Amino acid sequence: MINKKLSSTSDLWWEKYQKDILHTGLDTECGTVVGLSEGLLEYKSINGKLIPVRTNKEGTLPKEAYEACASKYCNYPELNKFVFGEMPRNWLCGVTKSAFIGHASNEQIRRTGASGGILSAVLIHLLNTNKISGVICLKMDEHKPWKAVPHIAKTKEQIIASAGSVYSATPTNTILKSLKNEEGHLAYIGLPDQVAAIRKLQKMEHPTVKNIKYVFGPYTGTQMSFEAIKSFLRSHNIKNEEDISSLKYRAGEWPGHLEIQLKDGKTLKAEKFHYNYLIPFFITSSSLQVPDFTNELTDLSVGDAWSPALEKQRGGYSVILARKPETKNLLLNMQKQDLLTLKQISIEEALNMHGHMLDFKKRGSFIRNSWKKVSPEYGYRPVGITKGRITIEWCLWAFFFIGKQRFSRWIIEHLPISIIGPAFNTLRKGWKYISKPTKRKGLRNQEFTVL
Ligand SMILES: Cc1cc2nc3c(=O)[nH]c(=O)nc-3n(C[C@H](O)[C@H](O)[C@H](O)COP(=O)(O)OP(=O)(O)OC[C@H]3O[C@@H](n4cnc5c(N)ncnc54)[C@H](O)[C@@H]3O)c2cc1C
Repeated sequence: MINKKLSSTSDLWWEKYQKDILHTGLDTECGTVVGLSEGLLEYKSINGKLIPVRTNKEGTLPKEAYEACASKYCNYPELNKFVFGEMPRNWLCGVTKSAFIGHASNEQIRRTGASGGILSAVLIHLLNTNKISGVICLKMDEHKPWKAVPHIAKTKEQIIASAGSVYSATPTNTILKSLKNEEGHLAYIGLPDQVAAIRKLQKMEHPTVKNIKYVFGPYTGTQMSFEAIKSFLRSHNIKNEEDISSLKYRAGEWPGHLEIQLKDGKTLKAEKFHYNYLIPFFITSSSLQVPDFTNELTDLSVGDAWSPALEKQRGGYSVILARKPETKNLLLNMQKQDLLTLKQISIEEALNMHGHMLDFKKRGSFIRNSWKKVSPEYGYRPVGITKGRITIEWCLWAFFFIGKQRFSRWIIEHLPISIIGPAFNTLRKGWKYISKPTKRKGLRNQEFTVL
């Protein structure tokens, strides 16, 4: 399946990459290997998965491209010591100095953001105070507006235009190829596996990351392949993504809705929790594999502040984990200047907002990974997982296995979304309710062992 041309060349690190990461199915599509390949590799979408393949350029893959990849080897204890100089007290959320709920005080920034616009507000503040000259983040491509691409936002307007969440797999770290000659400090926004690769590169003192001063990121539960959008289009009788003139994964009032504008002037919409019906059918393997929900290796990570009271108020609320004293001070200074509206909460309270997803990652990922022929190595693992919890995982496995079959995807495309969206939401809530006692049981006291 992988480009055959390669096997004939003697290219140690590319051959190792294929053997250890691609052929084992562990690749998380973070973009690092392509970004550091010096033009030898590019992504090709094969059955919805982004696979690095060789370009026509001659040469051998640099060792760092293999070593920086966090798909198989991502030693969290070591990386925690490198980034924070300490190990997490709580492995559910990683090193955390303070937790907050809040939002950008500026209503435009708040409402353009995916949850409360915290990331955008912090980035704009860093830019305005000359702490950074740009932000590595995502934007929708000008020529292919259905596709997110990494770029360096250098103005407030560009940061605002890059706000919002992108739920289709996007290999942000392909941008590494263009960072060497960048001047001035940068902030970097990425998902947990992408951030881990950046941290590995910082540990190696690699020149591509020398300008990255701040590393932030969203909480990351699940992500889908772009096939999910294509399926959504097909269920509206649109055969080609090239008919899209704009795509927003979270438009409008928080929690937002998927909004696709078509070149013929039509608009397709689906509520966030209805569009989620596509998750079991198109979830990426990295979402099932990576055990980091709260983006533990960032300086600051942000998620949706799910709580019935806040959801009722609408407007947009984020939960924020400040992982270093400097980032806590940055938030408090912004609060003083009325740039952020914040309330400090306990770490307990922050974790209670996401019990299901913490369990999905901190127990689920480790159970799922233990079923693989070759497992990723994270340097720690949970201990004492009950048989009941493993049974729950088997049920989820069966659900995802059925979901990824062609016939299931075909069926889902031919059912009206007005029925399937709400039905899925009811099913999701029912499943959460039934599995809650087992999934939450012992979660807060879950023990982990460092290997
Ligand atoms: C794939 C994914 C899954 C998520 N799952 C959860 C979840 O299960 N529970 C939860 O509470 N929150 C989740 N989030 C986080 C949530 O959607 C918001 O991103 C977060 O609350 C930050 O909101 P904000 O308003 O502060 O960010 P904004 O002010 O909107 O800024 C977001 C920044 O993140 C960048 N960005 C967006 N998507 C990506 C991406 N895919 N890769 C790299 N950079 C990106 C944007 O370019 C922008 O700079 C997820 C986010 C993503 C991208």
